[in-house]
Amino acid sequence: MLTVSARENTSTLPCGYKVDGTPGQIEAIRQVIDLFSLNKDQLTKIIAQFVDEMGKGLDHDGATVAMIPSFVPGKPTGKETGTYLALDLGGTNLRVCKVVLLGDGKYDIHQRKYVVSETLKRGKMHDLCDFIAECVGAFLSEQHTSTDSERLKLGFTFSFPIFQTSMNRGVLKQWTKGFACSGAVGKDAALMLQEALHKKHINVDIVAIVNDTVGTLMAHAYQEPDTMMGVIMGTGANISYCEKIANITKWKQQDHGSAEEMAINMECGAFDCERRVLPVTVYDQRIDRQSLNVHEQQHEKMIAGMYLGEITRQIMLDMIDRRLLFGGRSSSELNRQWSFDTAYMSTIEKDTSAKLLDTGHILESIMNIPSTALADRQMVKIITTCVGRRAARLHACGLAGVMTQTRKLDTACTIAVDGSLFEFYPNFEKNIMDALVEIYGPKMKDNVKFALSRDGSGLGAAVVAMMAHKHTQK
Ligand code: ADP
Ligand code: MG
Repeated sequence: MLTVSARENTSTLPCGYKVDGTPGQIEAIRQVIDLFSLNKDQLTKIIAQFVDEMGKGLDHDGATVAMIPSFVPGKPTGKETGTYLALDLGGTNLRVCKVVLLGDGKYDIHQRKYVVSETLKRGKMHDLCDFIAECVGAFLSEQHTSTDSERLKLGFTFSFPIFQTSMNRGVLKQWTKGFACSGAVGKDAALMLQEALHKKHINVDIVAIVNDTVGTLMAHAYQEPDTMMGVIMGTGANISYCEKIANITKWKQQDHGSAEEMAINMECGAFDCERRVLPVTVYDQRIDRQSLNVHEQQHEKMIAGMYLGEITRQIMLDMIDRRLLFGGRSSSELNRQWSFDTAYMSTIEKDTSAKLLDTGHILESIMNIPSTALADRQMVKIITTCVGRRAARLHACGLAGVMTQTRKLDTACTIAVDGSLFEFYPNFEKNIMDALVEIYGPKMKDNVKFALSRDGSGLGAAVVAMMAHKHTQK
């Protein structure tokens, strides 16, 4: 319950929040806390809707939560060996990796990152594929890896919604996360890249097109075979999990050998585009309206690293316009879209100094706000905490939805997670766990185990390439 005493200068807000400000500032911040809070009833309702949407996606094509079968039958055992290449496109960088699977869940990985420029992200798909092929060529020369005698097998982590038709074929449905290359939607991304590699005489076969969530799941499963979910909490947000093939009622293919389960790339960032249950605020509406993919990826836009800083920025601007923050003054930096990186939020959340000096540094030295009072810094910290906490709680809803669907609420459940948000944002894991405990009780602390799976899209794509390769050899 909110108990705000509107004393003149200092007021204690819920959860230990404190603002040494005016009654107007305190009231405004109380409204933000309220707007970004999610109680148990709301969470429960969101989870129920999530499970419902999963059912629709398993039943038919074209559902909001697409539930895309990965075509990869089963999971690795950890005993497999071999050398495979992996490519990771779909976030902030392009990564090229060479992975040697050593068996016993062990592996060696060599990798290099390449920056994908904003021009390439929004240019022609052919140019992007040429660029990727060049990076692969440069990486192989650098690694002194010859493809003369044997064609290397590559797993391509392509983290966008695709209509997958086989292990290495997938037609792009739509771009997300700031990509918008022309000549790609409706085309097979693996085929286009394969052609670019071929043109440059790079003897590499793309044997699997892998979503980063599935990569994360398989990477961790190679080390711990009972891993249940692969989750991305980075630039974007998405989940994959192992579903019983019998439950994938839309799945008509027979070619899955003896496997009873298949990883499903949920594409759950699209959850509730209909806005039935998500607590979409005016700030979220602004983010959506100004995004490249309006009315799409509603869940992702409230929980993913790409957007959290931007939500925080929108709230700050609103407070500035109401003359409640920074004496009503903004800066050209703060006025620029995407200027407030989610990483700044981590620094602000970590700042426990009495004067909030690190927060002041970000606002004054990085965002160029002329000066900040302690109340300003306290307000920014509370705004940040509210946005971050809501994101973690909404992530928890997705995880709880999958645990409900797979009946894992009362058993051990290992969740592999990749992404800087999970890795670096203070208390993100704790906030997720708190939400799960609030809904299902303390057993969650014993049952649910989170594992950071940093090499998700590198090792994972290589593991999937290995599985695809072995499958075609059968
Ligand atoms: P990707 O998802 O692109 O593969 P990452 O997992 O590194 O890559 O996620 C990048 C996202 O994480 C960006 O949106 C960035 O703002 C955010 N991020 C990077 N560093 C941090 C940090 N220290 N705290 C919170 N978020 C961060
Ligand atoms: Mg990633």
